[in-house]
Amino acid sequence: MFDSLQERLGTVFEGLKGRGALSEKDVDQALREVRLALLEADVALPVVKQFVADVRERAVGQEVTKSVTPGQQVVKIVHDRLTEMLGGEHAEIELTTEPPTPIMLVGLQGSGKTTSTAKLAKYFQDKQRKKVLMASLDVRRPAAQDQLRTLGAQIGVTVLENVQGEPPKAIAKRAKREATLQGYDIVLLDTAGRLAIDDELMNEIVEVRDAAEPAETLLVADSMTGQDAVTTAQKFHEGVGVTGIVLTRVDGDARGGAALSMRAVTGQPIKMMGTGEKVDALEPFHPERIANRILGMGDVVSLVEKAQETVEEEQAEKLRKKVQKGKFDLDDLAQQYRQLQKMGGMQALMKMLPGMGQLGKQMKNLESMVDEKSVNRQIAMIQSMTEQERKRPEIIKASRKRRIAAGSGMTVQDVNKLLKQHQEAQKMMKRASKQSKKGAKGGMPD
Ligand code: GDP
Repeated sequence: MFDSLQERLGTVFEGLKGRGALSEKDVDQALREVRLALLEADVALPVVKQFVADVRERAVGQEVTKSVTPGQQVVKIVHDRLTEMLGGEHAEIELTTEPPTPIMLVGLQGSGKTTSTAKLAKYFQDKQRKKVLMASLDVRRPAAQDQLRTLGAQIGVTVLENVQGEPPKAIAKRAKREATLQGYDIVLLDTAGRLAIDDELMNEIVEVRDAAEPAETLLVADSMTGQDAVTTAQKFHEGVGVTGIVLTRVDGDARGGAALSMRAVTGQPIKMMGTGEKVDALEPFHPERIANRILGMGDVVSLVEKAQETVEEEQAEKLRKKVQKGKFDLDDLAQQYRQLQKMGGMQALMKMLPGMGQLGKQMKNLESMVDEKSVNRQIAMIQSMTEQERKRPEIIKASRKRRIAAGSGMTVQDVNKLLKQHQEAQKMMKRASKQSKKGAKGGMPD
């Protein structure tokens, strides 16, 4: 899967990543090709549109980090957005604290449901040392029951005996009871499949769900069927509530559209993927690894990540030096505000200065000064100042205050408050740096 998409995106970014400067036109051109590549891969149109819009917004607003090219940075943005589109973090199959965990598998006939049930059983048995029981609830198709029995024998997992005439919900209950009595950790319920979704099937699965109260309802979807797989997933989700997806035939030459749209359209994560016909061909679905595979540019991505870290460290080092010399101007304050915004809290400041952690009370004061919403306004006021004013705030008297207030849409009182905050921050920084020096002299660890 993803081969042709990978090839196409590869061509787009190969051309871009080495470039020293990127105009908006370059970015637009690249994004046009990304859009086409995704559509050709059969990704749902609204998902493609959102993807391209997000990448454009991030690419345009990005400050270019020293030591990487703008092209490389765009690759990183696409990689990150692709990871998000695939679901972000890997989503685990959740087991209940009290065994047995009932897991129900649903899906259309031929999607790979019975095979995936056996694969999952083997996965839990081999990788997590779990004791697994399987049950076939497809009372209409004896062939499906036989198939599960054969697979069970092959992998050494017990399959619940079927009793003639027993309805699916009764089998589900019996499976759970048996699992509890016999000390199984997990009970996998392979529900009935049909060629198409109909009310009868949905009603049956709802009944089974209510009887079994599964911790997970996993939809098995065939990636080869592209957008049909996504539509099916959506319908199952509406009908019975799905908690995760097992995407099968990822080893085939599917174009990738199902994998790429599934999360965005259904809101449910792909948890596992089937990578072959054999019973051990099942793997956890890791969005970031898949994004790396699609882009094939892991080296560029880690290069940009490292460069971003270096820049942050350099900024911190510069600030440290300035504070030690007793300088902390309004530009520094603005930078701190931005850092706070980016890192979402006080940890940023704590990290900036050794010894900061000892100033608990002042930290609390500062925290109340920089409530999330006011940060942008503070930055706007600082931006309305001249360079001289930012370097030497003491020159800001009444008329300058009025100009700054007007320029940023704030009041003179707001400007006064900002200046006071700056003074407090300055004092605090000085004290922190003194304490850290004292600590260093006394041989204390930072
Ligand atoms: P069900 O009707 O949904 O229970 O589907 P089955 O489990 O019987 O699977 C249908 C066919 O798909 C079988 O021949 C499986 O071997 C095959 N199959 C299932 N999962 C995969 C997969 O991940 N990769 C490949 N290549 N084949 C698979």
